[in-house]
Amino acid sequence: MGIRILRGDITKQHVDAIVNAANTSLLGGGGVDGAIHRAGGPAILEECQELRRSRYGKGLPTGQAVATTAGRLPARWVIHTVGPVYTEDEDRGDLLASCYRESLAVADRLGVDSIAFPAVSAGVYGWPAESAAAIAVGTVRETATNVSDIRFVLFTDEVLAAFQRALD
Ligand code: ADP
Repeated sequence: MGIRILRGDITKQHVDAIVNAANTSLLGGGGVDGAIHRAGGPAILEECQELRRSRYGKGLPTGQAVATTAGRLPARWVIHTVGPVYTEDEDRGDLLASCYRESLAVADRLGVDSIAFPAVSAGVYGWPAESAAAIAVGTVRETATNVSDIRFVLFTDEVLAAFQRALD
């Protein structure tokens, strides 16, 4: 298994699956979620709406992951996961780790060989970059998976640098 860190827009990645930092509603949002739905087109949202009707009437719980196809994106699948909102009052690191573990479990079930992750929770959800990166890299390293190509695709200099430090 190889882990790489790249700078860029995750919607442009030619991988089997990209991970979306979604929210519980699964019905779209800002940040990377908005970018994925914009670039992928309406097919992704339609599948998310169907998931709400069938399996996730109350929404996708924090820390879990579920896949849809990827519409017009170069990737084949979008794996939607819901990161925890950061708070100083409570340690939600386990929930953030769960996002990475559960996304890899979904990827294994789909037979995915390559995956790209964004920095889940490190945007609007307020997670400090250093901690988000340590949890992301540490969890992926410790998780047994058949995915051989794992990429973190980071959008900002600050988050990119934090992930580079976490990998070293
Ligand atoms: P969350 O609500 O989980 O914090 P955000 O989408 O707000 O999710 O942010 C998660 C991370 O994704 C942030 O570091 C943000 O800069 C980054 N991001 C935003 N757009 C993209 C994109 N197109 N590709 C990769 N990362 C992105």
